[in-house]
Amino acid sequence: MESCPFCAIAAGQAPVSTVFEDDAVMAFIPLHPVYPGACLVIPKPHIDHFTDIPDPLAAQVMVVAQQVGRKIMSVYQPLRIGLLVHGFTVAHAHLHLIPQYGPLDIMHKHYAYCENGQVKFGDKDIPTPSRQALDEMAATLRL
Ligand SMILES: [Zn+2]
Repeated sequence: MESCPFCAIAAGQAPVSTVFEDDAVMAFIPLHPVYPGACLVIPKPHIDHFTDIPDPLAAQVMVVAQQVGRKIMSVYQPLRIGLLVHGFTVAHAHLHLIPQYGPLDIMHKHYAYCENGQVKFGDKDIPTPSRQALDEMAATLRL
């Protein structure tokens, strides 16, 4: 899909801090990692809904997620690795691998903030590391 940022990444047409890549699957550091070691895993073909990924490709995606998750555990030593699929920000199936240090980390507690007396959600308080910092993070997880 032409305007899809993850298709651009998969096609090598956008900057990315790659952790893993083969013909079908890619893993990379998101622009706003909730914690160091947070990672996204995508199928390379444009498929909007995770539930529409053909079974063999879904299995490949999950195996890569598991392998990267093991590396996150080894390098960053969180209590657990969380896996989340929501699909609201980019309509290209992607799995969020989330290092968890407490039970609310899977819900990205860091995205919640209070403004004018209302609880809101967004990435305004999530640091945006430089590309070099993202590349260095990716290097720690490279398979
Ligand atoms: Zn796409």
